[in-house]
Amino acid sequence: MNVLITGGSRGIGAACVRAFVQRGDRVAFFYRQNHAAAEALASETDTLAICADVSDPEVVCRSVEEALSALGSIDVLVSNAGISQIKLLGDVSDEDWRSMIDTNLSGAFYVTRAVTKNMVANHRGSIVFIGSMWGKTGASCEAHYSASKAGLRGLTMALAKELGPSNITVNCIEPGVIDTEMNAELDGDTRRALCDATPLCRIGRAEEVASAVCFLASDTASFITGQILGVDGGFAV
Ligand code: NDP
Repeated sequence: MNVLITGGSRGIGAACVRAFVQRGDRVAFFYRQNHAAAEALASETDTLAICADVSDPEVVCRSVEEALSALGSIDVLVSNAGISQIKLLGDVSDEDWRSMIDTNLSGAFYVTRAVTKNMVANHRGSIVFIGSMWGKTGASCEAHYSASKAGLRGLTMALAKELGPSNITVNCIEPGVIDTEMNAELDGDTRRALCDATPLCRIGRAEEVASAVCFLASDTASFITGQILGVDGGFAV
């Protein structure tokens, strides 16, 4: 299969790149600015790295075209690119709000809109959004992040209905606390508290999210659509 992954240069996205390549799939991935990490991963995995800010709809259209001409088609989209920020509501500026929504929610919309033209024409495809358990439960001091991720739930269910007749499945994975650079600034006490709140008593690994993504994008999951799957060690139960 031909796979496009956004935010593939690091963390969960990079684990997805490796997991799909291991399955024998051809992969292109988007990243925003970390050229060194992206180029290193692309040469390690023999994949195509495209510098594309998902919050810019024109860049997204151009970059999806670039991925399509390299791959020929896109069978799987993993919409993973995202940012996070911890701030009290009163400290969240207009720019903070816009940047969060533009990246996490509008970015997912722009990429999906561009990719589905090809999927609809081929009458086949799988889309996996990477949400967050905070989109289900809400996180204090992360109102803008939680709102952006809750929006992905609506997108998942609406698109599952709209794209189902075109043989395209649309699902969303909501990770719990995963050991990536996104959580690098959490102090020891906070990490311990998060482990304590997780029934499996630990932080998750990016590879554990990637294996769930591969499952939802595989033929094994061909009758699963419109679903939200927590990969969170039981945190949001
Ligand atoms: P990282 O911060 O480790 O990596 C983020 C990735 O997204 C990088 O590849 C980055 O590119 C890319 N990215 C960020 N903004 C843009 C943009 N505007 N356009 C294109 N690419 C962009 O994050 P994680 O791997 O931890 O998170 C991946 C996803 O999983 C996110 O959507 C996040 O919200 C979600 N998630 C993560 C959790 C966690 O605990 N880690 C928990 C729940 C959800 P570059 O390298 O160029 O900066």
